[in-house]
Amino acid sequence: MATSITFTLDLEDHRPDESVPERYSVVTEKILEFLNERAIKATVFTVGTLAEKNPQLIRRIHDAGHEIAHHSYDHTPLTKQDSGQFRDHTKRAKDILEDITGEKIVGYRAPIFSLTRDTLWAVDILKELGLEYSSSVLPAPNPLHGFPGAPSSPFRWSNGLIEIPAPIGKVGPFLMPYLGGFYFRYLPFGVIENKAKKAGDSVILWTYCHPYDFDPEEKNWRIKGASAPVSLLLWMNRKNTFNKLERLAESFEFSVPFKDQNFDSITNVVDPSTL
Ligand SMILES: [Zn+2]
Repeated sequence: MATSITFTLDLEDHRPDESVPERYSVVTEKILEFLNERAIKATVFTVGTLAEKNPQLIRRIHDAGHEIAHHSYDHTPLTKQDSGQFRDHTKRAKDILEDITGEKIVGYRAPIFSLTRDTLWAVDILKELGLEYSSSVLPAPNPLHGFPGAPSSPFRWSNGLIEIPAPIGKVGPFLMPYLGGFYFRYLPFGVIENKAKKAGDSVILWTYCHPYDFDPEEKNWRIKGASAPVSLLLWMNRKNTFNKLERLAESFEFSVPFKDQNFDSITNVVDPSTL
């Protein structure tokens, strides 16, 4: 499986409030251009509230042949919801995305990899709502949401929902999801390339970026709950993201979107109660 990479984008509006200028639309257009020039078809995990405000952007992405998948209603981590809220919000966003695209939405990604040991109740709700696969698990310790002990290769939850965990690699003493976001921006390209080449056949590789990962022009603000230096650190290193992806595209093939991949060979079944 690991000779190619699936391009995934997490489409969200990460501004603290509306006083900060909106830039995800213009940056997403640039990403679409980049993908189009290389004939790459992506899976775009989309936040429901963003789709509600900007249906024409979602329609354009869909019309360009990319998969629209589900990235929660308003990007609240699962750890901050109960099962009732989660069911309502997830259904609402799924309906919004299906109305816009005219197609069944089959893929789901939890905000900030918040499908963890503490939120396993979500697995049955996703299945009940008709989702077919999830890529919501980061199978490593992490300062935000990690799920150490979860398999790092794709598997089926015992209810049949497929899980495609974030690809992880060891950098120094730490396991990290080197193909996406902050890690992709900071790690030297050679390290990323090396980890991906050595990933092994049982892993599905996917890169996950957000529009802001490509946007050096966005102004920096202090992130809620983080110090000014940490906020700056989380903001920096954006100007080389296109360049790194270009190099990735030179070294690897890009796969079709998740919904078009054949998951029949994923036979490892995991009972959530055993994790
Ligand atoms: Zn997100």
